[in-house]
This record gives sequence, C-alpha cells and structure tokens, in this order.
Amino acid sequence: MTIPQLLREAVSLFGPREAIICPQQDIRLSYYEFDRAVDELASGFLAMGLEKGDRIGIWSPNRYEWVLTQFATARIGLVLVNINPAYRLSELEYALNKVGCKALVTARAFKTSNYLEMITTLAPEIADCEPGRLRAERLPQLRAVIVLGEVSEPGLFSFDRVRTLGGPAQQLRLPTIEAELGPDDAINIQFTSGTTGHPKGATLSHYNIVNNARYVTDRIALTESDRLCIPVPLYHCFGMVMGVLGAVSKGAAMVFPGEAFDPVTTLSALEAERCTAVYGVPTMFVAMLEELDRSPRNLAQLRTGIMAGAPCPVEVMHRVMERMHMREVTICYGMTETSPVSFQSFTDDPVDKRCETVGRIHPHLEVKIVNDDGRIVPVGVRGELCTRGYSVMKGYWDDQEKTVEAIRDGWMHTGDLAVIDEQGFCAIVGRVKDMIIRGGENVYPREIEEFLFRHPKISEVQVFGVPDDKYGEEVCAWVVAKPGASLDGEELRAFCNGQIAHYKIPRYIRVVDALPMTITGKPQKFIMREQMQEMLK
Ligand code: ATP
Ligand code: MG
Repeated sequence: MTIPQLLREAVSLFGPREAIICPQQDIRLSYYEFDRAVDELASGFLAMGLEKGDRIGIWSPNRYEWVLTQFATARIGLVLVNINPAYRLSELEYALNKVGCKALVTARAFKTSNYLEMITTLAPEIADCEPGRLRAERLPQLRAVIVLGEVSEPGLFSFDRVRTLGGPAQQLRLPTIEAELGPDDAINIQFTSGTTGHPKGATLSHYNIVNNARYVTDRIALTESDRLCIPVPLYHCFGMVMGVLGAVSKGAAMVFPGEAFDPVTTLSALEAERCTAVYGVPTMFVAMLEELDRSPRNLAQLRTGIMAGAPCPVEVMHRVMERMHMREVTICYGMTETSPVSFQSFTDDPVDKRCETVGRIHPHLEVKIVNDDGRIVPVGVRGELCTRGYSVMKGYWDDQEKTVEAIRDGWMHTGDLAVIDEQGFCAIVGRVKDMIIRGGENVYPREIEEFLFRHPKISEVQVFGVPDDKYGEEVCAWVVAKPGASLDGEELRAFCNGQIAHYKIPRYIRVVDALPMTITGKPQKFIMREQMQEMLK
C-alpha cells in the first residue's frame, strides 16, 4: 500500500471524523477536509513544476502544514526530506545539498532561530529572483522556497499561495500520477538523530513506513475512536510514522499540542482534547510527571501510548502507569533505518517486562543476536541486535559505503547490544560503541546508570568510557541533580562502594546542570566524551 492509498482508505471509512487538531494554530480538520487540502497542495506542487522523484525538504517545527506537506508530496511521488528544526546554517546547507533538494518548505522562525535569515544568508540571490526560479551558488539545486505564514519578501512562495496554484489541469493529473506510484518507491529521507555522530540520511519507501505505522498502532489497539496526542517532533519517525501515519492507518484523531514539546501545553492538550493516547521519549514523561506534581489534571480518559527512543527507568514507568492513567502504555525499540519500530511490548504484558525489556518482535520481521564474529549467540547471551524484513530502509542516501556496512544479506546491523529471553522479550543493554572495556572487563554503561538512578538526589545520569593509559578506558559518569538537591562525586562513589563491582564504579563523576541532548531528547554521549577528554588533558 502507498501513503496516498492509506489516506484514501481513511477518508472512505472515516471521512467526517476529526483528523488534525492543532489548538495553537486554531485548526481542526476532518478527514475529508484534510484530504481536500492535500489535493490542493499536491496540485500546487505540480503547478510549480515538481515531479515524481524530486526531493523536497521540510524545515519546520510541528505545525499542521507539516502533515499536509507529508501527504501532498507522497501523493505525487516527491521524496520528502525531513530536516531537523534544530539545524543551523551549515547543517541545513549540508542536508539540502547532500540529497539535492529542489524545493524547501520552511517555517519563518523557530525558538531563537530565524530560518529565513539563514536561508537568505545561504542564498542571497533569492531577493532578485521570481519565486521558483532561484539560482544560488551555495544551494545549486534549490529552485523554490515555500514559507509557512505570511510572506512579503521577494523570491518566496507562501504556503497558502501554493495551495491555490494548481488549476483543473493539475487536479486532473493527480489520479494518473497516483496510479503510477509503487509501494517500493523512495518517498522519504530521514536523518538519524545524531546520537553517535553525524546524522545519516535513511531512504525509506511507502512500503517500509506504511506497514510499520500499522503494526505499531495495532499493538496499542488504536481505533477511530482514539485521540492521539503527538508532542514528539514530526521531522523524526516517531512523529511522522508512528504518530501521523499510525493515526491515519486507524482513522484516529491527531492532536498536536504545539511547535515543540512543552510539558504544560502537552498536559493541557491531553486534558482539553480528551486524548486517549500520547507518545514521548522518557525525558518528556519525566517532565510531564513533574508538572503534574505541581498542578494536577484530569487525565482519566488517557489509556495508552508509546515510550520510545531511549531506555525508560523503571520508576518512571510505574509513575506513568499510575499518575498518568496509562495502564496500557507500551515501550518500543526502533531506529530510523528500520522505519522505525522492530520491538514493542503488548498493552497487557506484565509490568516488569514492560519496564525491563522493549517487548517482542513485530510481525513479519526476523531477528538475530550475533557476537563479534557474526555468529548467532545462545538465548540469554548479549550481542549485537540485527533485524531483517519489510522495514529495512532502501539504504543511506548517496552513501553506498555506509549502506553495505549497515545492511548485510538483508540484515540491518543495529549497533545496539541486546539480549533476548526464552519468551522472546528483548532487552537493550546499550550501544556496541558505548560498551566500555576497562582493563579487559566489559562494562555496560546502562547497568551502572540503572544503579546510580536509584540514588534519591539524581534526576538524570549518563555513563560512558574515556580513554585511559593504564586501563584502556575508564568509567565516567555525568549526573544532573534533582531540583534543589546538591550532589558530589564522593557521595556517589560511596553510594556505589560495596554495591557494584569496583571496576564499575565511575572514576570520574561530573555534576552538570543539563546533559547535551539531540532534539529528540537523547543524551549525546559522544559530546560528553569529547568534553571530558578535553578536561582530562
Ligand atoms: P545516530 O544513528 O545518528 O547516532 P540514533 O541512533 O540515536 O542516532 P535514531 O535512529 O533516532 O538515531 O535512534 C535509534 C536508536 O535509539 C537505536 O539504535 C537505539 O540505540 C536507541 N533506542 C531506540 N529505542 C530504544 C529503547 N526503547 N530503549 C533503548 N534504546 C533505544
Ligand atoms: Mg543510529
């Protein structure tokens, strides 16, 4: 099935039901209205001269236009390129040129970043050109910039104007173009989070992401009566695949609480829109729980959701189930390269399994765990997780070398360390690259993080290795104290003494105000490691 077919199906089954709710933009669209807006926009793109296979970037925080763009590009076979809202000048230039974007849909600004200013710096030629006829030295392939909201500057299209550009001729072409789309066509390029280094552009097909979206929402038993709150970024697969495509595959309503995650607006949307499901990474749930302690809300209708992207501390899981009424919350494991989810818990899995594992494999996927030599290890033994099946990306865009390194015989080598028990529950125990080898002993940072997390004054903790002349690597921890608490390294080392093996006790402990994070809310150990190495010089 293709993305346009997915929307057609939703419209035919659930046309009058609410599809998109964006309180901050005062937008409420039914599936009918959503579909009509998508057709208008797709016709506008055709009128601009965009054609199947052309890449079109989107650089915007969460707004309803993001979702229209996602479906309008798919309807005519354009390849949507998700650009991280946190990117700055050089990253934007890299992403646009790397995949050769012909057009860019962009917000004017986000938080403290003035997007239009950055675009004009990269392409000053824009001020002297007709909209759609850009020729810029630094962005040689880019022809058109489409701006969300009002536009008075020369050289730019406004998004609303593009929606009016398509005439009957373009409208008539839509069904033919749609009929020629194949499920295996590349439809989307998503950059990985950049947790371990430079983000990589994963190329995904309709088939990859439509199927994954269905299986993800099957597991949380989402139906047309559900109202799914999506505070996670749309540029990331969590938002656009598991969130948007997942909701559309079931005819559920999507509620977008705001441009970026904020615990107060998210909780307000959950309450006011009577949401039944919500997605987030663990740190978002932590922030919502803290806010709930300050000002309680009625979340009685909340039932389920997904916590994914990073390990969830056991204690947080319990509080989410109780304080947020999310008894049926599930955990997912996935990666951008596998569309994204491959493991997920069921809503009625025992609580301990939902806390300690990422659940069981999704339908139609194979899994194996291998050692350093690529051999399958026995059940219960740690190794690198590999998955194979419909969800594995087509490849990294224009990067054959990294593609063949990651996908071997159809198997995606995830770079994650995992262990699977007899019942098929999988626990992620860290990243292969993060494993610390100290004096010949394997040290798993996750284990030490779980232990330190039990300390009553710790709010966040990350453990990683730093090079050491004597032991090869030494264990280092960065911790964030709970509000109002003060912490020091000696106290934490004393806490570890006698409780965990001596070689696991962090030699270096640094108390910081905040951890370096990706915009998806993941701690970036490579940055901590670099900074620590500098400090230890
Ligand atoms: P990059 O590949 O650029 O370094 P990234 O791997 O963080 O960044 P994503 O594709 O967004 O980029 O994230 C996938 C990774 O997130 C997985 O490989 C895994 O390490 C981690 N992850 C995802 N879900 C979970 C989970 N439930 N528990 C633990 N880790 C998870
Ligand atoms: Mg990765």
